[in-house]
Amino acid sequence: MIRYDTHMHSSFSTDSDASMESMVAGAQKAGLEGICFTEHMDLDYPRQYFPSDPNAFAADPEEVFREIRRLRGLAGHDDAGVMNNSRISIGFGLEFGMQPHLADRFHDIAQSCHLDYIVASQHLVDSMDPYYPEAWEGFTPDELISRYYQEMLSNIKAMKEWDSLAHMDYIIRYIPNQSGHVYDSYERHSDVIDEILRYVISSGKCLEVNTAGYKYGLGQPNPSPAILKRYRQLGGERITVGADAHAPEHIAGGFIQAEKLLLSLGFRTYSVFKQRRMREIQFSSISS
Ligand SMILES: [Zn+2]
Ligand SMILES: [Zn+2]
Repeated sequence: MIRYDTHMHSSFSTDSDASMESMVAGAQKAGLEGICFTEHMDLDYPRQYFPSDPNAFAADPEEVFREIRRLRGLAGHDDAGVMNNSRISIGFGLEFGMQPHLADRFHDIAQSCHLDYIVASQHLVDSMDPYYPEAWEGFTPDELISRYYQEMLSNIKAMKEWDSLAHMDYIIRYIPNQSGHVYDSYERHSDVIDEILRYVISSGKCLEVNTAGYKYGLGQPNPSPAILKRYRQLGGERITVGADAHAPEHIAGGFIQAEKLLLSLGFRTYSVFKQRRMREIQFSSISS
């Protein structure tokens, strides 16, 4: 049983209405030992999607940290809170939405905030959000996805301050007219994907297994089993796991399927972060 969910959002993120407190309560209900909030930090998110909100998808780290400290303080303890009579550690993370010009600003945020953890995410391609069908106009899926991975590769190299590469094949969730077929991005983009995986490994960072893919009906996490298998083949061992919940009921969603998959691929541990330091936890065989 995976006891830590290290990717989640609350109302500090534009796409969630859930209070942080309700997320902590939901995590306790799910029997977790720890969580990490990773609120959206998509600086310079393209204005056309939220014209009236210049700070869309860019949380204020100070405000986020203040609320996390309040929740931790409910236990009178430094890094854990007790509500509903069970102790849970509450991490302060951010999800950095990578763009080529943001490396320095992310560096400053990482230096100035008391962050436990940073996930690096490629949400955009050429400043367009593939969540919206317009981003796909004028491209075949292969073309846009190829650009997506190329941009990811150059961003992760330019940006030093991150701990885990989030939902690596995220873009495949949004291919228009998929009709039940799951796009195999490893098969079509193996060169650039190998380069990304090798870079993650050589820089000592982690690859995130984002279980929201199960919720999106993909029947698999992001990245896909083919990519996770390749990561392991290349010597990758470090993974983090998160459900990317935006509401309490989605916390730890898909963890049972993900654990089974990861064990079958030969992964033995998953990692959690505190003050940017990694700790590896063995998958336990006890499934309760
Ligand atoms: Zn994301
Ligand atoms: Zn997220």
